[in-house]
Amino acid sequence: MLFSQLGLSAELLRAIADQGYEQATPIQEQAIPLVLKGHDVLAGAQTGTGKTAGFALPMLQRMQATPTKGKRPAVRALILVPTRELAAQVGDSIRDYSKYLKYQTAIIFGGVGINPQISKLRRGVDIVVATPGRLLDHLQRGTLDLSKVETLVLDEADRMLDMGFIHDIRKVMKELPPERQTLLFSATFSREIKKLSSALLNSPSTIQVARQNTTAELVTQVVHPVDRTRKLELLSHMIGANNWSQVLVFTRTKHGANWVSRQLQRNGLVSDAIHGNKSQNARTRALNDFKSGKVRVLVATDIAARGLDIEQLPHVVNYELPNVPEDYVHRIGRTGRAGQDGHAVSLVCVDENKLLADIQRLLKHKITTEVIEGYEPDPSIMPEPILKRSNKRSPRNGRSGARPSQGARRTGGNGNRSSNSGNRHGGNNRSGGGRQRRAS
Ligand code: AMP
Repeated sequence: MLFSQLGLSAELLRAIADQGYEQATPIQEQAIPLVLKGHDVLAGAQTGTGKTAGFALPMLQRMQATPTKGKRPAVRALILVPTRELAAQVGDSIRDYSKYLKYQTAIIFGGVGINPQISKLRRGVDIVVATPGRLLDHLQRGTLDLSKVETLVLDEADRMLDMGFIHDIRKVMKELPPERQTLLFSATFSREIKKLSSALLNSPSTIQVARQNTTAELVTQVVHPVDRTRKLELLSHMIGANNWSQVLVFTRTKHGANWVSRQLQRNGLVSDAIHGNKSQNARTRALNDFKSGKVRVLVATDIAARGLDIEQLPHVVNYELPNVPEDYVHRIGRTGRAGQDGHAVSLVCVDENKLLADIQRLLKHKITTEVIEGYEPDPSIMPEPILKRSNKRSPRNGRSGARPSQGARRTGGNGNRSSNSGNRHGGNNRSGGGRQRRAS
């Protein structure tokens, strides 16, 4: 369906045309008319489906229909998101879509100074895009008034719950007027999401694009079985041999991300890491360098990668499978976005067979397995447990440049006990592995 058939205003249609969009995506086709009519909406949509425009365009149009009262703008729309990156991305999209309207959008997240945000809010804003933690900080300081909010959007609500934001969300809700339109977007519909939606939404219309927990159809997925100690070698080989120029690599932990990035650098591949321990500036710089092609390989943890929008990202590599199967869906959703073909590779060692089985159960299909010549797994290597709990206080084990552990473990079956004690990223990484709770 063309955007011009969706009953959007001339200003919005012009902004959409500037973006180069012609056809509405399925989520946009479904969401826009419902939101325009003022319904609450519960939407099952993965990232990469165009959901941001699906809520932002009709929201802006409804704001246009009732002019702002008073001299100074009041916050009329609040969009809550789980991560800083997503806040920045959604905020940028809203600024793009509203470029011919006179609205002020504030992007509010933690990890950066609060004073510029306070100044911006003081001057008056119409739209706030925020992570829950920093938003609450502003509410507690009295630097933000949400009593005039007409539209509330919870974006990637499942991830907000995963990250432990439920209490912050509840506190924010108390500051909102009960008469409002609420839109909830989530990639998955867990029991918690249903509970949250019945608490916050009023007789919502439910829409769903792509089956629940299915991976983007345009993404080809493949598993390469490999020994835990040979993953890095295989990764470097694949990037070089296939001449991949832009690769997003996922690790389970922050230390893992640093380690893989450093090793790739040593192998001559320009690489950077992005994770929650890095300052917002470092994260933004790494992302910009990656987007511009200066950095060839970006190594990320799940939380840091949430909300990354890189157009036409061709390759995603799971250096390690995630502990939570849903994260696999989110990870590979980084490629194959908005109609582009994508390629998702998982390097899976014997320790990860259970994680792979869980992912396949969630996807309801098997992922093609391909052994790469020269990297055939050694059948005598026994699985070792993967620690799931985060252990942030543990010392950084191993020195810069240390090779992945050769399996110097009690349970190690490959007999090599002489390797360094730095149990780094060739196997189960003991220096992290849990989920980070907060991003803001
Ligand atoms: P989202 O799922 O909102 O993160 O959007 C994913 C990507 O699709 C973003 O890069 C958008 O700019 C792009 N996009 C959104 N809507 C359309 C559309 N109708 N046509 C082409 N690209 C779009």
